[in-house]
Amino acid sequence: MRDEACIFCKIIAGEIPSYTIYEDEDFKVILDVNPASKGHALILPKHHCADIYEIDEDTASKAMRLAKRLALHMTKQLECDGFNILQNNHEVAGQTVFHFHMHLIPRYQNAKNKDILMWNHETFSAEEMAEIRDRLKSK
Ligand code: AMP
Ligand code: ZN
Repeated sequence: MRDEACIFCKIIAGEIPSYTIYEDEDFKVILDVNPASKGHALILPKHHCADIYEIDEDTASKAMRLAKRLALHMTKQLECDGFNILQNNHEVAGQTVFHFHMHLIPRYQNAKNKDILMWNHETFSAEEMAEIRDRLKSK
């Protein structure tokens, strides 16, 4: 299943070049063209789905298992000091390509760019925290 207008579907089909670091029947893993750090990579499921809301649970599980394996492999090969795994959904959350992907971002102690994933904190009152908990708690 592919979306004709989707750039990641075109990369998966080999119609747009990429630096592929891993491929199997379900996924292609490529280097990000605008890397946040050395080795920044993207796990792309081969079947088009837009985001976490659309992806089936089996593929999502496989993607996380692959992220685990690649985190070990990339950390060893790149000798990085830490690792972020990031996944954006919808424009408001920073998603710019609407084909599900997981960012694999190696982190380096001596990197110039350290504030890759910084955010400001929000504050909620005790009542608000309780209300949020009650709304989210599984019954
Ligand atoms: P997101 O903002 O989570 O949707 O991430 C999309 C990512 O795709 C960005 O980090 C882009 O740099 C990356 N990207 C966009 N086009 C390409 C491409 N042709 N090859 C590799 N990475 C790309
Ligand atoms: Zn796609």
